[in-house]
Amino acid sequence: MARSTTSIEIPGYGNGFVVAGKGTIVRLTDLKGNQVGDLWAIAAKDHDEYLSTATTRMLSGRMFPRLGEPFFTTRDRPILTFVKDTSPGFHDMMFASCCDALYRKRGAKGHPNCRDNYFAAIARAGVRHANIPDPVNIFQNTPARPDGSFLYGVTMSAPGDHVEFRVEMDCMVIVTACSSERINAGASTPMRLEVRKSVA
Ligand SMILES: [Zn+2]
Repeated sequence: MARSTTSIEIPGYGNGFVVAGKGTIVRLTDLKGNQVGDLWAIAAKDHDEYLSTATTRMLSGRMFPRLGEPFFTTRDRPILTFVKDTSPGFHDMMFASCCDALYRKRGAKGHPNCRDNYFAAIARAGVRHANIPDPVNIFQNTPARPDGSFLYGVTMSAPGDHVEFRVEMDCMVIVTACSSERINAGASTPMRLEVRKSVA
């Protein structure tokens, strides 16, 4: 029987993080549906080791996350394993986070964005990174077409849909509720991030 040991709600357009020990389960829930969560994992011991989508693509031979498979770090070690998914199964590890320049291009200067949210979260977590690592974009529905272009699909997750990861090394898991109205059905909405521990 699993019980929740840490649980935070990430507001729409916001960010949050949890500290997760090896062997625990991290769960991310889309509370209202159609919401992408950008996710990062940073090793607790050395903040220069973190989940690398490029390393994961290389070692898995895949463009997108797959249930049962690990995400690898900048040092080629598993940091999270994808163990549960109640959603339709669309997740991305090809896109960078949304940023101020993207929204400025669309005429929305000063719009909240995942890049600013990442730096706000790591500041509270005591992590200093000069640059933002590329995220895993949970629930993001942007598969590739055979010609190599991306298909920008509607985010399909329903209220309560969640994913779970087994934690393979002590780490911090950071999530931003993606700020894009375009891919999040009109508004960014809250998500829940939890660390769950199996108890005997
Ligand atoms: Zn975003």
